[in-house]
Parts: sequence; C-alpha cells; structure tokens
Amino acid sequence: MTEKVPILVVDDLPQNIMALEAVIADMGFDVITASSGNDALRLSLKHDLALILLDVQMPGMNGFEVARLIRSNPKTNHFPIIFVTAGMKDLLSQIEGYETGAVDYLIKPFEPIILRSKVKVFRELYLQRKVIERFYSNLEQLVEERTSELKEANATISHLAATDELTELYNRRYFNDRLSAAISAARRHSYHLSMIMIDLDHFKKVNDTYGHSAGDLVLKTFADLLRDMMRAEDVAARWGGEEFIIILPHTPGDAAAALAERIRAAFEQQSDRATAIVLSASFGVVQLHESDDADTLISRADAALYRAKREGRNRVVVE
Ligand SMILES: [Mg+2]
Repeated sequence: MTEKVPILVVDDLPQNIMALEAVIADMGFDVITASSGNDALRLSLKHDLALILLDVQMPGMNGFEVARLIRSNPKTNHFPIIFVTAGMKDLLSQIEGYETGAVDYLIKPFEPIILRSKVKVFRELYLQRKVIERFYSNLEQLVEERTSELKEANATISHLAATDELTELYNRRYFNDRLSAAISAARRHSYHLSMIMIDLDHFKKVNDTYGHSAGDLVLKTFADLLRDMMRAEDVAARWGGEEFIIILPHTPGDAAAALAERIRAAFEQQSDRATAIVLSASFGVVQLHESDDADTLISRADAALYRAKREGRNRVVVE
C-alpha cells in the first residue's frame, strides 16, 4: 500500500479548485479542499499536510492572513505553502507572499508541468519526513523500553545492595544509613527512639552439631519472627553472623523492652517444634539519650546485650 500524501487546495472558486485537482490528480495525493481561509485553518489542524496550494484573493480572510496564521501555529508552521494567484501578480504582492514564509508564488496562467514538478518535490520531502518521524518514534519507544528495563535493574541492584541475602532483612550498611536519618528525625520532631540489639544464644553449637544449613534455617526462622512482630516503621537488620539489630522510632525504652521480651518468648517457643535444637536469644535494649549519636547508641545497646549474655542468656536487659 502506498502512503497517502495529503495536500490542501484552497480557493474561493470551485472551478479553480477543480482545475488544480485535475493537474495533480494522478500523482498519488489525498486532495483536501477548502473554499475559505477559515476552512483552510481548520483543515490544516486536522491533517498532516505535505503542501498547501493557497489562493491569495478570497473574501473574508485572504491568503496572506491564512499563511501567517498557519506559520504562527507550532502544529502547522512546518507545512510548505505555495501561493497560486491570477490577480495578485505585482511585485509587492509577491514579496508579501514570500514574507509570510511561503516557498513559492505561482502566477496563473502557468504550465501544468511546472506545477506538477514543484508539487512532486514536496511529496518527496513529505515521504522523507515520515520516514524520519517513524525512525524517531521507534527510537523513542526503544529508549522508553530500555529506560524501564534499567529502572528495574537499578531497583534490583539497590534492593540487593541493601539486603542481607540469607535473611532478606536489611544489611548492616543500609541499617547505618537509616539509623543516622532516624536519629535526626527523632531529634527534630522530639520523639522517643529505641534500639534493640540481639544475639542468638549458642549459635556456634547449632552450626557445629547440625551443620550450616541448620544454622541458616535458624537465622531465617528468627528473621521471619522479627518481620512478623515488628511495625512497618521499625527497621531490622542482620548486624553480623548471628546478630540482629532493630531501630524503633516513636518508642520509649520500656515499650521496646516489652517487644524484645515478646520476640524472646516467641523464639524460645520455636524450639519445641520437631527439631531437637534449643532456640534462645539475648537482647540489649536502649533508648536514645540527649548525648547519644549513632555510635554511642550502638555501643550502649551492645553493652546491654553483653550484660544479658553474662547474666545467663535468653533474656532482655534494658540499659
Ligand atoms: Mg480567489
């Protein structure tokens, strides 16, 4: 199928339109006709035109005014215009015609073959423009596809960079970023913030006795438990081998200790299941003080955890 090439023929006299149509009839154009300036403007907004053959003398809006309006609209200003006139052949009119931005000014009578040659040039230009437009539209689509693939890949990468592979909790690096932000938010809006540091008891014994896959299963079990018991705004991470850490915004130390105690009890419960593995964990709980920064908060939580270990494990110590 050959591509339709729309051309707009504008003249107030039907016999002039028919004469022009007859000249270009067999050139593969989709000929659109208008008998007034207003019609011409309306149709130029509706069609992507290869060319406009424009009469100069018309009642109401004349051809020059039509051309200027078409030029001034960004949707139509690239359409080439050829004036076709019998009456306005003086030099000043021709100059005015070209100054509207028209590409040619044909004075009747002219040789039909001349009009055909000129019109043919604009048909070729139109078809080239279409090829380029299609190329860019494909390119745009390709860029869009690649961009969304990239975004997906980046999302995956950020997720991987922030996540501990085994437990799918956050990793230590991501946690540190969140901790600083959480501390400054708590300061700025003056609310409580607490931290729980956790170490699974006798974990090495699990690994040594039952193997590493059993150890991994214990870590995953504990991580699942944290996910179930935390609120959405809490941030939990795997801190080290069998160490975990949680920040709890909007939470005073006693509420954090109560949560730690519930987690401790729930984890202990898990040991009753089929395995002969005894599960327990020790918890250090601290609340953010005036004088704390991220480092001191962590080291106080660590000290509380150490005390829980020393005092016999499977317990919560609040400092
Ligand atoms: Mg006329």
